[in-house]
Amino acid sequence: MVSRLILVLADQLTRNVAALRDYRDGDLIVMAEVSDEATYVPHHPRKIAFLFTAMRKFAASLREEGLAVAYTTLDDPENTGSITGELIRRADEHGVSEVIATEPGEWRLIQALNDCPLTVRQIEDDRFIATHAEFERWAEGRKELRMEWWYREMRRKTGLLMEGDEPAGGKWNYDHDNRKPAPGEIDFSGPMRFTPDETTEEVLTLVGNRFGNSFGSLDDFWFGTDSEQASRALTRFIKHALPNFGDYQDAMMSEEQFLYHSIISVYLNSGLLDPMDACRAAEDAWKAGDAPINAVEGFIRQIIGWREYVRGIYYREGSDYAKRNDLNHNRSLPGFFWGDDTQMRCISKTVEQTRTQAYAHHIQRLMVTGNFALLAGLNPQEVQDWYMAVYADAYEWVMSANVIGMTQFADGGIVASKPYVSSANYIDKMSDYCKGCHYSAKKKTGEGACPFNLLYWHFLDRHREKFEKNPRMAQMYATWDRMSDEKQTTIRDEADTFLNRMAQGALV
Ligand code: SF4
Repeated sequence: MVSRLILVLADQLTRNVAALRDYRDGDLIVMAEVSDEATYVPHHPRKIAFLFTAMRKFAASLREEGLAVAYTTLDDPENTGSITGELIRRADEHGVSEVIATEPGEWRLIQALNDCPLTVRQIEDDRFIATHAEFERWAEGRKELRMEWWYREMRRKTGLLMEGDEPAGGKWNYDHDNRKPAPGEIDFSGPMRFTPDETTEEVLTLVGNRFGNSFGSLDDFWFGTDSEQASRALTRFIKHALPNFGDYQDAMMSEEQFLYHSIISVYLNSGLLDPMDACRAAEDAWKAGDAPINAVEGFIRQIIGWREYVRGIYYREGSDYAKRNDLNHNRSLPGFFWGDDTQMRCISKTVEQTRTQAYAHHIQRLMVTGNFALLAGLNPQEVQDWYMAVYADAYEWVMSANVIGMTQFADGGIVASKPYVSSANYIDKMSDYCKGCHYSAKKKTGEGACPFNLLYWHFLDRHREKFEKNPRMAQMYATWDRMSDEKQTTIRDEADTFLNRMAQGALV
């Protein structure tokens, strides 16, 4: 006799997830590969393959433990195609109506569970350092919700890199040490790669058949797909890449897709890796003298600082946060975000890496694609849907504050104190993309001028009313004002021409 259903979603693949901790005899765990979840944005086939494989292996591990699991594969003829459909089908089969679920990481699914005719109890997901209530308490009454202050709270709470009440090494944040440009050579051969096993091969065939026409390649699939493999990937990063991670975390290289990055967000966000385990492993490396503080602090800050912060913002701001468009940007995403040709080498390299790996690091996302989208005035919802679709680690709880807040300034300044825009200068300094580009990073106007240069001033000019009083932008407006009327007109005209050509689908 089944008494209750326990729902486990694709990004809740750990025995330690709240609903599973509540498992008792008579419960039935429900897991399902459903087309609604695979297609609400056109997810990268690699992301779908990763999640379906990890789900199948996790379900098998639960059964081995003796737990009862009802698992629906995508090609099951009885598959209803949605999470709530599968819950209702299993509830009917077993004559039960009570469902225990761990709160989903997307408002869309939270609402679907609320609307489900069964009795669904959603328990807060406690795989994070902070609860919703803790973030609320911290945010309440503050004029500005800056990540740095939240991060310090999390350092104190976890005790990570703390010496009593003081930060280890005397500084909370070593970001200034972590901005070295692209090195000539990388002495790390990239993240640990796993040869697909039988389950993975089966899923790769299924996903290839169903989603093979979507943007993204399944070739050379190497992600780990269980917690043991995720731990091994972490260990390799800590041992071989962490020491240099800090120095080069913002660098970008055309032929080095991973540099010294960990590529563990895909494991953290699906539940295969525990965030505190990852942080403690990095802290241990520092204590053992195997990694410098700037690298370890930078790594830990991304997990207990930024990751917790973006989640806090997402739940605090509510379900309309992802729909905000404070700058009223409404241009459609150009085809080169989906792999059409572009002469902008930085974009072309980042998108190509995204197509082959379902991965790009934070600066490629922030300062190449995100920066371009903001400068060009692309619609922030379309931009968010793109990030949600193409990255294997993307879920709405993590993408919204990153895209709507950080990269697109569409939330009006909740996350960022000024828009993250830059001309070609930054990309030229931090990458090797500009060498060999059709455009010239140094050229501001005229034939071959880099579009980032034109659009940078165009953005500031068209949003002058909004930003000219922002003290962090005064310098930029002073520079613009020093330009002659003629130069300003040339920039406006050339930027408009570029945007019109882009909208018409011309090769830009
Ligand atoms: Fe990108 Fe401009 Fe550099 Fe080309 S010149 S790679 S478009 S920043």
